[in-house]
Amino acid sequence: MEAETDAEIRQILQNSDQSLAAAEINEVLEQQNNISLNIAVTGETGAGKSTFINAFRGLNDEDDGAALTGCKETTKEVTAYPHPNYPNVTFWDLPGIGTTNFPAKKYKKKVGLEKFDFFIIISANRFTENDVKLAQEIKKMKKNYYFVRSKIDSDLDNEKKFRTNFNREETLTDIKEDCIKGLQDAGFESPQVFLVSSFELHEYDISLLQETFETELPEHKRNALLMTTPITSLEIIAKKKEAFKSKIKYWAAASAAGAAVSVPGLSIAVDVSILIAAVTQYVHGFGLDVPTMKRLAARTGVSYDDLLAVIVSPLAAAEVTSALVLRVMSSLAGRTVLMAVEEGSRFIPIIGIPIAMGLSYIAIYRVLSHILNTLAEDSERVFRKAFGSK
Ligand code: GDP
Repeated sequence: MEAETDAEIRQILQNSDQSLAAAEINEVLEQQNNISLNIAVTGETGAGKSTFINAFRGLNDEDDGAALTGCKETTKEVTAYPHPNYPNVTFWDLPGIGTTNFPAKKYKKKVGLEKFDFFIIISANRFTENDVKLAQEIKKMKKNYYFVRSKIDSDLDNEKKFRTNFNREETLTDIKEDCIKGLQDAGFESPQVFLVSSFELHEYDISLLQETFETELPEHKRNALLMTTPITSLEIIAKKKEAFKSKIKYWAAASAAGAAVSVPGLSIAVDVSILIAAVTQYVHGFGLDVPTMKRLAARTGVSYDDLLAVIVSPLAAAEVTSALVLRVMSSLAGRTVLMAVEEGSRFIPIIGIPIAMGLSYIAIYRVLSHILNTLAEDSERVFRKAFGSK
């Protein structure tokens, strides 16, 4: 896909009509950014579905758009919870097979199982007969499902309280093996079970679960997943950075082709709206927007000001406006980031495009790379600050 897009963009750039080229590259970018992903989260009432959906979207239970948690009523409706920063990625609270008004036979059609990309089956204990029935239906459709054993923090707390010879690793292994045994008894040959706590999302098997989602998802959907994956480890930050990095050439091409505004202090012009879109993606992807950081502060008990204090980039925890983006670009003029741009025609990677556009392309490419690195480092610092040495 990558090579095809490269060829496509090169062809568009060589088109003599520059504004048309910008529009066409934008369309290519839009297509990539608009891929939808529908993740079903299912299980018995009280299993922890709503809390997991909120935690995975970086929301606390009382935030706007959060799924209602702790209600005794059985969920009878399929409810959609879009990701706050990427509305095309939706989590669905799916009632378990035995908890709806319609008979099991009609469940698949009524609920519309086909529309989901994959399924997370949650249980706070062993998996139930209904969980198993649903997994078998999903299996028939050749879709992926993941057994998640929730509330692990609470299991560990209980064991700690009531056992004199408490051993964390042994307790975790016992819980997992017990769930696996239950599923094997129900006919699953080698089931995989992930231990998760929505209260301590960065702990236990969450990284393994995120990796498994990613490897098993069709390639064109992976980016959507990665963008909405909560930051639960430094590895996730590195992965997001790589994904963003591979797209810089497209943003740079679009901004250079659509060039409209000249950058103070630099003899180049850019389409600043495209840069805003790219930077906003980075800020959201790395969890550095104000609402996400405030929610992180509320969740971890580390104050918002303490999180802000470790941030270096002026683009993090700020409104990404054209004035701000241009100011950041100008501030890089004369620094190594932008050296060689002025005499840079020999670096122009795309033969047959106007030199001015080529210079803009190189400058934007370098500026975006620099911004991306700084934001990724900010994200690492915020993660360390929020979660300490854990
Ligand atoms: P749902 O009915 O499946 O949506 O379950 P909820 O998400 O509403 O959770 C039911 C109860 O379990 C609530 O009181 C949650 O606070 C609690 N809960 C959910 N996830 C966790 C968790 O990871 N750890 C602990 N200790 N409690 C949890």
